[in-house]
Amino acid sequence: MTKRILVTGGAGFIGSAVVRRIITETPHRVLVVDALTYAGSLASLASVAGDARYEFVHADICEADAMAAELARFRPDIVMHLAAESHVDRSIDGPGAFLRTNVVGTVTLLQVVLAYWRGLDEAGRGAFRFHHISTDEVFGSLGEDGLFHEESAYKPNSPYSASKAASDHFVRAWHHTYGLPVVVSNCSNNYGPYHFPEKLIPLTILNALEGKPLPVYGAGENVRDWLYVEDHAEALLLIAERGRAGESYNVGGGAEQRNIEVVRQICALVDEMAPAPGIGAREKLIRFVTDRPGHDLRYAIDAGKIRRELGWQPRESFESGLRKTVRWYLDNRDWWEPIRKRVYGGGRLGASV
Ligand code: NAD
Repeated sequence: MTKRILVTGGAGFIGSAVVRRIITETPHRVLVVDALTYAGSLASLASVAGDARYEFVHADICEADAMAAELARFRPDIVMHLAAESHVDRSIDGPGAFLRTNVVGTVTLLQVVLAYWRGLDEAGRGAFRFHHISTDEVFGSLGEDGLFHEESAYKPNSPYSASKAASDHFVRAWHHTYGLPVVVSNCSNNYGPYHFPEKLIPLTILNALEGKPLPVYGAGENVRDWLYVEDHAEALLLIAERGRAGESYNVGGGAEQRNIEVVRQICALVDEMAPAPGIGAREKLIRFVTDRPGHDLRYAIDAGKIRRELGWQPRESFESGLRKTVRWYLDNRDWWEPIRKRVYGGGRLGASV
């Protein structure tokens, strides 16, 4: 059945992957609502922008009237909420924007979505979903072993993860108190095409390409469970369409890597795909720098529930996904060059103590 899906944050990294997938792989219609902060780019949606099933509205989720007007006009069957401030380092430098968008923005959206949902007929209310997209960082840090599952306790450590944890709690409360049919997903670190070059993988690819130093926080021993963004987009659409109301689903790549190993693999791929005799072996550009304050040691996901209930598992290994990602950055300079020049050049963020 053709559905109408409103995607907040659809001009961002993961949101744009979801929107491209909706247009290329489903019959559904999509309305993107995005404030186009530093992290949002309409260039990430250029490949689908001409499709008659796609619409874009420039709006802020904190503006209740604008959001209510879009809900009344578009009449979605599903709201997928991805709009957020998403970078831990920026949350250390300036937590206010994280409180505003991730917490106040999510509660504002919940209020207007609740009013909209109450106005639907019984069948519409039953079929509706508010899908809140969140992170595994809400569970805090793991030691050497163990995995996060859906019942893991919330122990957020950074201003970013605290703001996401707060938003998860509000979403849960709107289900239990008002009966809004919500579903939450908590995902591990994503990587892939259209990733804003402030995060480890795209920053390292571009610095390696340009022969610039490759900063690695601390000793590079922190472990993340990496997931290719298009695998995440597939999981998100399954959860939005078939996830059980009131439930949460953990999503992960089963691909744990130490940061230093990630950087070394990128160096080898860039050396192979873009050899530069003037630069030499990219590994020589690695520099260990002061660690991120409060840096969580390890995140890893048990994705058994989504595999059992919805039949999802990642298609890409870390090796295949990373190769595709490096190739994409080499082939898509017109996407990242304006960002590197005008929005963010790669300087250190979040070092404050
Ligand atoms: P992103 O920073 O690339 O994109 C965020 C988007 O939200 C941007 O397009 C931005 O313009 C928009 N936005 C920000 N504030 C807004 C506001 N007030 N109103 C409307 N739009 C606004 O983020 P991402 O990496 O694509 O992450 C998307 C979601 O997934 C976030 O909720 C994030 O917490 C979550 N998540 C991310 C990861 C990851 O590895 N990137 C992992 C798990 C979960």
